[in-house]
Amino acid sequence: MLGFQWKVDVLLEGNWRGASSVLLTNGRHPVLVDTGMPHDGHQLLSALAERGLKPADIPCIINTHFHLDHVSNNHLFPQSVIYATQQSHDWCRALYADLVDPVGWKARALKYYPETYEYERSEDLMDKLRKIALRWWNARHIGSPSQFRWIETHPLPDGIEALFTSGHVPGHASLIVRRDAEPIVVAGDALLTRAHDDQVLTMIPYCRAQYQQDRQKILSIPGRIIPGHDQAFLNHGTTK
Ligand SMILES: [Zn+2]
Repeated sequence: MLGFQWKVDVLLEGNWRGASSVLLTNGRHPVLVDTGMPHDGHQLLSALAERGLKPADIPCIINTHFHLDHVSNNHLFPQSVIYATQQSHDWCRALYADLVDPVGWKARALKYYPETYEYERSEDLMDKLRKIALRWWNARHIGSPSQFRWIETHPLPDGIEALFTSGHVPGHASLIVRRDAEPIVVAGDALLTRAHDDQVLTMIPYCRAQYQQDRQKILSIPGRIIPGHDQAFLNHGTTK
């Protein structure tokens, strides 16, 4: 089998409030995975410029999911094709539309997060999620409909494989980037942080049991892992 030579370069390092943005390059066609919050735009463009790239040089974006901290600079790349799942697109857009509606938003948010009241501080979390949505969500930031290629029906570029990890949001896609050496996993929010998943400004999992399975699955893959909200680390492939 011919080897894949993807190189992985972290442009925005994930932290408790900002998502990782990652550049995959194979010498020909750079791929950008997730684009961050609106206020990360300048930093993202600077990181690309440091590598001699401008938005028009990026033919392809992949979004792990459509929470706004992962997609809000897609619009800076109007010439790129955007791969993502239709499931996460439709789910997140409906969620934000319901959250910003002033009437009955709390009851409606329960449709999306049916386990909300199994968590402590659920009221707080829901209020926080709504405030973030009101402040930052803008459907125009995610790109135009003509740019989307749904992963459900369109294969990703060679050597990049989607691993569906729906515990965080339905249709969430982590990516396994194949190389001659061990693969690199761009986990997105299926693995928020290396050690444990608290202290990240994000919503509870859509489904906690599935979320825990997703995390274990990612931690069973030996190689480098880039969490959604933490620095990259080398994983030895044991879940213990
Ligand atoms: Zn996130």
